[in-house]
Amino acid sequence: MSAAVLTAPGRVRLDRVRRPDPGPGQVRIRLEGSGVCGSDLAQWRGAPWFSYPLPPGQPGHEGWGEVDALGSGVEAPAPGTRVATLAIGAYANYALDHASAVVPLPDSLADRPFPAEPLGCAMNVFRRSHVAPDDAVVVVGIGFLGALLTRLAVVAGARVMAVSRRRFARDVGKQAGAEVVAELDHGPAALEEWVRDWNSGRLADSVIEVTGTQSGLDAASRLPRVRGRLVIAGYHQGGPRTVDLQGWNWRGLDVINAHERDQAEYVRGMREAITAVETGRLDPWPLITHTFPLDLLDQALDMARSRPDGFLKAVVIHDG
Ligand SMILES: [Zn+2]
Repeated sequence: MSAAVLTAPGRVRLDRVRRPDPGPGQVRIRLEGSGVCGSDLAQWRGAPWFSYPLPPGQPGHEGWGEVDALGSGVEAPAPGTRVATLAIGAYANYALDHASAVVPLPDSLADRPFPAEPLGCAMNVFRRSHVAPDDAVVVVGIGFLGALLTRLAVVAGARVMAVSRRRFARDVGKQAGAEVVAELDHGPAALEEWVRDWNSGRLADSVIEVTGTQSGLDAASRLPRVRGRLVIAGYHQGGPRTVDLQGWNWRGLDVINAHERDQAEYVRGMREAITAVETGRLDPWPLITHTFPLDLLDQALDMARSRPDGFLKAVVIHDG
């Protein structure tokens, strides 16, 4: 099979490698494609704790495709079933996953790319955000995940302010139903004023931070009201962050690190995402702005890093 191999930071080549055989309890999936994730950029940029080349297909982990072989002890899903998978190594034609971790995709999603991992992530983050109708919610950072969370909060009846550095992304926030949009670049103090102007002098009930950056965290930390909620949904990689604990403390914030690490929770989120898409709560496809063939994975990763105007989310499509 073909598999992308990251040979060094910023370098990838397509290799022919042996197709894996499913072990006990596993299924093999002939992948149609994989989403390109912001968290892949750590390996793409490089860090001392990674060793290259990475195993074939890594760090792709947002795959979907068709089950094509079952390991021993597995009866379902049957070969031919289209599924979403969390398998690591999804930048390859085939991947193995535990039978209990793949989620069948309904016919209504046929022929559509379905990077279920970030969609499930949005559902899981949102559940832990405890957004209630009429809450004032600020989403700081509008990428794919931020746009999904904006939409989920709006559908739940919240009033939402979408905050982003990029003008294009602020427009996306508007389209997702945000009442107002604001610029991140003006700094935490200006943003605080903005929130008070919008919310009748009060700070926000919930603030969902989706930037994964120190500056985004600094801004988001200023915006929840006393006993409000600060939900960390950004991927904070690459070393420690500093936080204004005095400010958190003074306002008695509930701070929630909203990423799941338990696979059962991930699978639950993926199932909920499928339902949300089928019932119209979420429409992810306009947010998938770029599609690349697997042999142009380098361009996809570069674009995810530089995030040019018009970019929110890329997927790579595998052929053959
Ligand atoms: Zn991801």
